[in-house]
Amino acid sequence: MRKPIIAGNWKMNKTAKEAEALINELKPLVAKSKPEVVICIPYTDLWIAKQAIEGSKIKLGAENVAWADSGAFTGEISAAMLKEIGVEYVIIGHSERRQYFGETDETVNKRLKQALANDLKPIVCVGETLEEREKNKTKKVLKKQVLVGFEGVDDLSNVVIAYEPVWAIGTGKTATAEDADKTIGYIRSLIRKTYGAEVAKSLRIQYGGSMKPSNAKELMAMRNIDGGLIGGAALKAEDFAGIVNYKG
Ligand code: PEP
Repeated sequence: MRKPIIAGNWKMNKTAKEAEALINELKPLVAKSKPEVVICIPYTDLWIAKQAIEGSKIKLGAENVAWADSGAFTGEISAAMLKEIGVEYVIIGHSERRQYFGETDETVNKRLKQALANDLKPIVCVGETLEEREKNKTKKVLKKQVLVGFEGVDDLSNVVIAYEPVWAIGTGKTATAEDADKTIGYIRSLIRKTYGAEVAKSLRIQYGGSMKPSNAKELMAMRNIDGGLIGGAALKAEDFAGIVNYKG
């Protein structure tokens, strides 16, 4: 049985003080949550968030991690820096990193290996753009993202994949539950081919893209969908909790 995982991606939102206030609002609302609850938040919020989540079920995540241990990499944050604060999860290869900051499947692969070598749990994002979808290239794109992104990675037991169709991120457009399930099923089949049936069966794959309280139940009911990566709706305690508590 795969335990559902709902992760918020705050992106570049919330100062440290705002983060503390949001977490304090969120804590009682997710106190009885059944899924695993993670908040992936800006680096500058991590320290205060670590104190604020104390005694709650909320786990801490970052939005990226450097591929090197340390050194001349201005602006990067290392796995050791994240570990020391108590970070457990890291998002890797979000489409906004790919779109605006030159992230590629190769750099995703390097960051993924670094995260795993340092016992951070990666949430690896994959997904096609609208143009790729319209040209019927979804499977081809996902195959490359998975094969290159995971090259040389043997153990997926701590890995989560987030399937995020880029056209559904922050647009209010959600993939239909059936569509998302089918595509996630395809990603699972890629994993099965490389890693075998047992690994494919136990790997958690989230859906991401305009997920909200009103569509969470339908999406989460699908066979292949094991959770959500939540952008906009993670910025309001009530909305995020509404997704976490999708079963009511
Ligand atoms: C995201 O950025 O990962 C995301 C899914 O955003 P949104 O929920 O706002 O579409």
